Amino acid sequence: MTTPAPKPWIAAIAPYVPGRATTDDGRKVVKLSSNENPLGTSPDAVAAFEGARRDLARYPDAGATILREAIAAKYGLDPARVIYGTGSDELLHMAAGAFSGVGDEIIHVRYGFAVYEIATRRTGATVVIAPDKDYATDVDAILAAVTERTRVVFVANPNNPTGTFASRQEIARLHAGLRRDILLVVDQAYAEYLEPEEDDAGLALAMTEPNVLVTRTFSKIHGLAAERIGWGYAAQPIVQALHRIRAPFNVTSAGQHAAVAALADDGFVEETRAHNAHWRDWFANEIASMGNAGLRAVPSKANFVLIVFEGALTGEAAYAGLMEAGYLVRWLPGQGLGHGLRITIGTEDECRGVIAALRAMVRDTVAEAG
Ligand SMILES: *Cc1c(COP(=O)(O)O)cnc(C)c1O
Repeated sequence: MTTPAPKPWIAAIAPYVPGRATTDDGRKVVKLSSNENPLGTSPDAVAAFEGARRDLARYPDAGATILREAIAAKYGLDPARVIYGTGSDELLHMAAGAFSGVGDEIIHVRYGFAVYEIATRRTGATVVIAPDKDYATDVDAILAAVTERTRVVFVANPNNPTGTFASRQEIARLHAGLRRDILLVVDQAYAEYLEPEEDDAGLALAMTEPNVLVTRTFSKIHGLAAERIGWGYAAQPIVQALHRIRAPFNVTSAGQHAAVAALADDGFVEETRAHNAHWRDWFANEIASMGNAGLRAVPSKANFVLIVFEGALTGEAAYAGLMEAGYLVRWLPGQGLGHGLRITIGTEDECRGVIAALRAMVRDTVAEAG
């Protein structure tokens, strides 16, 4: 008996595993597994979202005009070159889909964002993995991985799941080292968490260079993950190619209105950024103070911290122990990070609770070993 057969490159895709919201035994606990905003959403954005409910029978504006214009005004861009997606996830798929296919290669870093691999395989292209440098993006390793078949390079900056950051100089060096027919995608999902002076200048490159696509999202600092809104910026020919394969009405009406209001609420963004910077640094210091227990916080510029477990307490045991204590974090054995946990920076209470639970586990593990 024959049945419809997915293409072999589709069958080879390992499905995306989202951050969990419930424990093994079904308890609803604190979710620190998806890098969502612990402060919620701008009240202005919530009000705009509520106000958009009148128009449920109408399709949204397919051109996302108010959204493009608000983004362009905010960042000094040409609204005609702003592309938008059902989350920035859709933009990543469009970038791979428009510029690669069977026989082509797409590069991303080891310990990169899981969607890159799925977006690459979906087009039939080959995944090429550039080794990391102690979990961080290694520009030389990426450039060394380029072949005549390379079509796209995906770099998240700050990177997920590691939180590491490549400087403006490193991103410029990466771009300068790539052929002009290779699309460099700088995924800035966490850019708003950086201090203004830390900007990697990806948007400046996208303004002037023919082969740079920057992607951004409303899911992280703007607290609109439920509405699925992302945007990007690139040269006009790149943007036109992406429009060809974009879903026709890919951003909802309520989402467009909520995003415009979120973009205008600088106070909320600044409050979130400051909260995150304070508690992220506190969190990393607490891990560092656990002495020789073998825990290490990878330096992060994002709204999460990757902890690697190199001592008696394993990543798997810590994952289970945190779940028991009421905290769901991200354990990523499928991405070669069975020895690591990615933990979203939550509220003060949540940060303190996670650290207390980790301290207790470290103490118990040492006592057992002794
Ligand atoms: C969260 C995330 C995204 C995608 O977010 P959307 O919700 O699809 O906009 C993209 N890239 C990275 C690196 C992320 O962590």
